[in-house]
Amino acid sequence: MAIKMEKRQYKLLTVVMVALLLLAMPGIGRELAGCVAGESLIFDSWQDVLEFFARHDLVSREGLVATDGGVDERPCVVIDAGHGGADPGKVGQGEVLEKDINLQIARRLKLYLEANDVRVVMTRQEDVMLETGDGSSKKSQDMKARVNLIEENMPRVVVSVHQNSYPAESVHGAQVFFFTGSTEGSKLADLIQNSMLTYVDPQNKRQIKGDNTYYLLKHISVPTVIVECGFLSNPGEAKKLKDEEYQDRVAWAIHLGILQYLSDSV
Ligand SMILES: [Zn+2]
Repeated sequence: MAIKMEKRQYKLLTVVMVALLLLAMPGIGRELAGCVAGESLIFDSWQDVLEFFARHDLVSREGLVATDGGVDERPCVVIDAGHGGADPGKVGQGEVLEKDINLQIARRLKLYLEANDVRVVMTRQEDVMLETGDGSSKKSQDMKARVNLIEENMPRVVVSVHQNSYPAESVHGAQVFFFTGSTEGSKLADLIQNSMLTYVDPQNKRQIKGDNTYYLLKHISVPTVIVECGFLSNPGEAKKLKDEEYQDRVAWAIHLGILQYLSDSV
């Protein structure tokens, strides 16, 4: 039986669960309450509620099951909204921050994929950096935590959303990167690049490119791509990337590329 609830009911339920945890396990509960303070607690689905608890290690990721109680057999895609929190990423024309645009596009992409029966895991849903608590630098902890979260979920593919920047303002256009030598990565990159060419910018001359320096590409075992949606250093493209309708088109194009990859590689 599918459970249907309003957004505020999910929120209420989560608050009640956290309160019960505080009573039952004061140590863990207090720690969790601290984390919760920085998160919005607004969830769109039961899956999001479970993701929230999994993020705080209160349910195992293997325990994430479909709402009807069966095993969730939907393909899993991890969407990684690049940067966040103290790490703004590129700072573009008009002080626009890469981290914000990444998250806005990632959220739209999540909705499109979920509407097509894909289980989506986001590495972040808020303006935060991730932590491992291992004492290394914040950026290094953030990247390690993303890799850990991805490997725990064993997704079919990982799509990391970024915006580019270059000293020469004239440089523009989306470009998708894959791990050098990865056949599957290059196939996924190609489908997304072509979809963006068709639906976002038919004039774009950029081609997919292999890369062996990006941390995520080097450390993740499943096909992974970095989608650089455009250049924030180009005034025209920066303006478009801030626009909700354009972000929506970018997300739509990326989701079609992912869906095609998933259906081709069953
Ligand atoms: Zn970036």
